Amino acid sequence: MVRKLGEKALDPYENAVMQLKKAVNVLGLDDEAFEALKTHERVIQVKIPVRMDDGKTRIFIGWRAQHNSALGPYKGGVRYHPETDMSEVMALSMWMTWKCSLLQLPFGGGKGGVRVDPRRLSFREIEALSRGYFAAISRFVGEDLDIPAPDVYTNPQTMAWYIDEYYRIIGHNIFGVVTGKPQQLGGLGTRIVATGFGVAAIAREAANKMLGGIEGKRVAVQGFGNVGSYAAYYLSNWGAKVVAVSDSSGGIYDPKGLRIDEVMRVKSEKGKVIEYPDAKRISNEELLTLDVDILIPAALENVITIDNAPKIKAKLIVEGANGPTTPEADDILFKRGIFVVPDILANAGGVTASWIEWVNNRTGGWITDDEAMRKLEEKMITAFRTLYSYMNRRSDIDPRTAAQAVAVERVYNAMKLRGWI
Ligand code: NAD
Repeated sequence: MVRKLGEKALDPYENAVMQLKKAVNVLGLDDEAFEALKTHERVIQVKIPVRMDDGKTRIFIGWRAQHNSALGPYKGGVRYHPETDMSEVMALSMWMTWKCSLLQLPFGGGKGGVRVDPRRLSFREIEALSRGYFAAISRFVGEDLDIPAPDVYTNPQTMAWYIDEYYRIIGHNIFGVVTGKPQQLGGLGTRIVATGFGVAAIAREAANKMLGGIEGKRVAVQGFGNVGSYAAYYLSNWGAKVVAVSDSSGGIYDPKGLRIDEVMRVKSEKGKVIEYPDAKRISNEELLTLDVDILIPAALENVITIDNAPKIKAKLIVEGANGPTTPEADDILFKRGIFVVPDILANAGGVTASWIEWVNNRTGGWITDDEAMRKLEEKMITAFRTLYSYMNRRSDIDPRTAAQAVAVERVYNAMKLRGWI
């Protein structure tokens, strides 16, 4: 993804298509295959009238993009954002197809969005909007058809409204129609840690392969939110030395290693990591070029650029955030021999946990938290090993293109078997 928050850079759909073209070329597929892989199966635009608190009706516009279902029902989040548009959800749904395929989940790719600034709506208005959106797309979702989940500015409460609205429409409970639900409604207790844990598990596996193990390795994490904080937490538990973390207020650095449980406490009590005592304050830009072994961008898009890529000292970058590296920076890092574990693999812990939740809902809810974590770890590590061995065979291509090629090839093969190509 190439959009900075609040700023349209390259059209995200064009970017997704360009990336697909690269993977198609690596695989040696022809134009017929490219067209078939590129084209969305369905893109729905819906009108959502909402009676606002002042009594007036406001019209919102939403979308659900369903890119490809060769491997299974569409899967992907719904975002509420003032700048979401059809191009964005189309791009994101295509990336979901590749992400699910790479992780060998039985899903295709979908994504939804509503053009709204939810911070300007009351709780009741957001509920009305959420119910209206789900009712409008209800004929096109289902536990075997399309399974939404939370994304930017949507959360387990939003999912609870979705399943309840679905219940009203079809007349009985189908909890597997969305994932990321509250635990009382069939959600997974471990969902909150899943993405950060997955990032950490991949970083550990990559360090085992490339850096001689995770023990004592110096790690810097940009962004101490849901993904970054749990990635830092697990890595420090596994013996890595997390020397720097940051949030939007700035960063902290201690070459001897930060006490991550203490940083988490400070962040939750005071809202800023810079309130942590005994560490040097650094800027977010400085964090990226610190002398560390592993760098984990887990905040925003487009932070590793043509300007700072030549100065990065980490040997391994694990992309917790979506799209933290620009295409130009990717080329520089690849030439410098820095291994970038791409976002579609590194931050796939969330969708993998979603798959476990969906299976659990459909089998009557038997999975324990321990089993869910074990399964998550196994899936992430298997996907990393597949990518790594592919890279050993094709050292001429960068890891992002390799990951896309692995994913695209599986979708292509499924489409061929089904007679779609
Ligand atoms: P979050 O809102 O919980 O945390 C974001 C963190 O980034 C916060 O600590 C915030 O202070 C920090 N931040 C904001 N602006 C910053 C800046 N200019 N410099 C440094 N830090 C800044 O979000 P999250 O859920 O942790 O998501 C982080 C990234 O991971 C996003 O790109 C998201 O799309 C991606 N992601 C998240 C999940 C998930 O399950 N949460 C799954 C896949 C991908």
